[in-house]
Amino acid sequence: METMTLNAAPQWRFSGEQGKANYERALREYPAQAIVDLAALRDNMRHLVEVCGGPGSGTAVMGVVKADAYGHGLIPSALAALAGGATWLGTAQAREALLLRKAGIGLDRCRILTWMYSGPTAPLDELIANDIDVSVGSLDGIELVAAAARATGRTAFIHVKVDSGFGRNGFTEMNFPDAVARLAPLAKEGLVRVVGQWSHLAVADAPDVPEFVAATDQQIENFNAFTELMKQAGIAPQIRHLANTAATLDRPEIRFELTRPGIGLYGYEPDPAMGTPSKYRLRPAMTLQAQLGTVKDVQAGHGISYGRTYLTGERTSTAIVPIGYADGIHRSASGFDVEGAQHVDKPGGPVRVMTVDGPRVLHVSGRVCMDQFVLDLCGSAAELGVHEGDTVMLFGPGRGEAYGEPTADDWARAAGTISYEVFTCLRGRIPRLYLNAREVLSEDDLRLLDPASIL
Ligand SMILES: *Cc1c(COP(=O)(O)O)cnc(C)c1O
Repeated sequence: METMTLNAAPQWRFSGEQGKANYERALREYPAQAIVDLAALRDNMRHLVEVCGGPGSGTAVMGVVKADAYGHGLIPSALAALAGGATWLGTAQAREALLLRKAGIGLDRCRILTWMYSGPTAPLDELIANDIDVSVGSLDGIELVAAAARATGRTAFIHVKVDSGFGRNGFTEMNFPDAVARLAPLAKEGLVRVVGQWSHLAVADAPDVPEFVAATDQQIENFNAFTELMKQAGIAPQIRHLANTAATLDRPEIRFELTRPGIGLYGYEPDPAMGTPSKYRLRPAMTLQAQLGTVKDVQAGHGISYGRTYLTGERTSTAIVPIGYADGIHRSASGFDVEGAQHVDKPGGPVRVMTVDGPRVLHVSGRVCMDQFVLDLCGSAAELGVHEGDTVMLFGPGRGEAYGEPTADDWARAAGTISYEVFTCLRGRIPRLYLNAREVLSEDDLRLLDPASIL
């Protein structure tokens, strides 16, 4: 008997026949797909804009789309963020800022800030020519930006980065006096315009840890002291920005003229210790799913995968999930369950499998391999109604108990990392497909997407 009509695949709402055909093509192309809901991205941004007081509040919101939009796809995610009311986009790497402009996202739609570059090889002239604001956080950086502005004959729009306590980029109180002394005449000459002053927070995602709250308070105090020095030098910043997602949600007093949420746009809170995404009215945008490979029965005590870190407890069935660490599935999310002297029991990353009894969350059993890992189905595949080709979900919107949907936070926990790394590690060979693109994007914007990626 053909087991049930119970389709393990989520019921995706395609925009039409073409969307369905694109989905089917993607399944032939690769046995796993990352499906990104552009409506979730837009709604998350809308919510963040509301949290900051709305469009007229004087606080703008930057969609941080660095690292290929945290693995969600740079251009589609940027467009969805703009649809949700972002008026700034930010990237770490200059290349990604340039890609946004080259895609046709002009200054009429948003300002763009980029903040990483490495000495004289950086394409600062190209950034300036493309109306991209650049961060300046070192004395050498000032000279490079000034030289690029001179060469292009245009004013460089700069944001002065201060190290208020993060210990990464930016001027410290030790070299800031020299920086402002150098910047003031450059601003007067019109080579640079000091648009912003900015900094980054180290521990804003731990609002329950008094020591960290104090550290953030100290960073804010330092930040304000830097502002004073800029004012005294006659280069008062027009726009100050300090808040990442955590501070945007939790620290209203430092939203200033601009906030820079990243992870919130993608639907996650920065740290599970802060609560779940739904507590912050955020909706995870990405679903990672795969189609099962070999499903088979094995005896009790069967070793699973390299290193025999997992031995089946009793007669059971196993299923192959055909993606591995070469796809960005963390090997540290391997599952360990070995009886005996050195008993180790550590569940691997969670996977939702649809059974005849409804969804069930199973765990990576044994080591994650390069292109695959194994799931102990903890029962008979025939009885559970699990088959080769069934679609399983590694993480999804996390709609709660009844759906049994793991989230990227669950994978992060299993792998000893953070959700940020779970998304950004996903490799390009997993197709990215976009839900609700036609609902969220204008006709012109839709043309900037790979047509085959639109569901
Ligand atoms: C990544 C990043 C952000 C966004 O941080 P989230 O925690 O994802 O909100 C903001 N500012 C800078 C400088 C960043 O590098």
